[in-house]
Amino acid sequence: MASTICGWCGDRTHMTMQTEPKQVPSSSGYVYMASFRCSSEACHRLSIGSIWRQRDYGSNPQAEMARDVGIQWEPKSIRRPSFQDVPRQIAETATEAHACLSISAYRGAVALARAVVEATAKDHGIIKGPLVAKIDEMHKQNLIREITRQLAHEIREGGNEIAHGDLADEAMPSEDAEAIVALMDEILEEVYQGPARMLTLQKSRLEREQRNAAKKAGA
Ligand SMILES: [Zn+2]
Repeated sequence: MASTICGWCGDRTHMTMQTEPKQVPSSSGYVYMASFRCSSEACHRLSIGSIWRQRDYGSNPQAEMARDVGIQWEPKSIRRPSFQDVPRQIAETATEAHACLSISAYRGAVALARAVVEATAKDHGIIKGPLVAKIDEMHKQNLIREITRQLAHEIREGGNEIAHGDLADEAMPSEDAEAIVALMDEILEEVYQGPARMLTLQKSRLEREQRNAAKKAGA
């Protein structure tokens, strides 16, 4: 049984093979494709699992698929995390940056992650200079931590090329895109989500104190 995040229901589930792998010729080898059924009660939909093997490959693709050795899944599971306490337009763009990342659309992911950070700065009245200057200013205004500012300086290069219309000669490596989207997540956490959580805690503490005071006064 293979295990993956189902592209239909989004749950991590076991996939049970429904049909034997079909061998399809591809450049210098074969693709083996089989249908699998999601084990989630609420889903049970079919996905296609594929593995690619060289022409002189001696092993048994069916057994390997059953053992889940490097299967590519279709439909892919697309990550669309939601961002609580972040202004709607910024939150929706951040969600799309993750969706791009999960389908390996790395340039799109980076362009959107940059737009999210730009919009976050603008939301706090920071509009001057290149993005890296805005990140410095966000740190100056105590919106983000020093380590986040430093990290932004280290990983900004790849994103710069896309933002300025110089499409890079080399493909954007997945690790760079992942790092830039992770930086976006961290900035949203520090600027919006963390403070909102603290305010909620503070509010519930105040309410509890008021209730206790009212009880004492009534006693
Ligand atoms: Zn499913």
